[in-house]
Amino acid sequence: MGFQANGIEVEVVQGDITDQSDMDAIVNAANAELRMGGGVAGAIHRAAGSELDEETRPLAPINTGEAVMTSAPNLPNRYIIHCLGPVHGVDDPASTLLASCYQRALELAEDAGLESVAFPAISTGAFGFPMEQAAEVASRTILARSGSLQSVRRLRWVLFSEEDRILHEEVFESVLNA
Ligand code: ADP
Repeated sequence: MGFQANGIEVEVVQGDITDQSDMDAIVNAANAELRMGGGVAGAIHRAAGSELDEETRPLAPINTGEAVMTSAPNLPNRYIIHCLGPVHGVDDPASTLLASCYQRALELAEDAGLESVAFPAISTGAFGFPMEQAAEVASRTILARSGSLQSVRRLRWVLFSEEDRILHEEVFESVLNA
């Protein structure tokens, strides 16, 4: 499903973050050490291989709410933006830290002059952040930041399950089409 926010195209799709060949950058739901891990980080590092580990090692560790950018070896994208989301119930205030991830990722994409970025639902897997609240943070951050984007014109949220995709569509609809 597609939305608009201040002229930015915002898509919500079901799929795999490593399979977004028409996007300049994909976002990794990283761990502080920028290593393999499970979920999104597992899928990205498996696809990218040891070249990515060599690039991330000197950049780690990163703080919660921060993002760093690397190339995207063996992936169809130009860059990977690695974000460290909050662990629900541990990192506080979790919503602000999650918003900071999205904001920092958008800033890095802008600085690099990118046109398109695909995001997973950061923190909603191993880090336990509630899916609906995460969709609210994502869509409110888009709304707040879209007006200042210049090079970035397309954003995509890639959800793994149909249930998560539908939930995101509902929340994005109510926040972006309000
Ligand atoms: P975190 O540690 O930040 O919680 P996870 O990678 O554990 O990150 O999960 C984040 C979200 O990404 C979860 O909703 C999970 O279902 C989803 N997910 C897992 N693998 C993929 C993938 N390959 N592509 C897109 N989303 C994925």
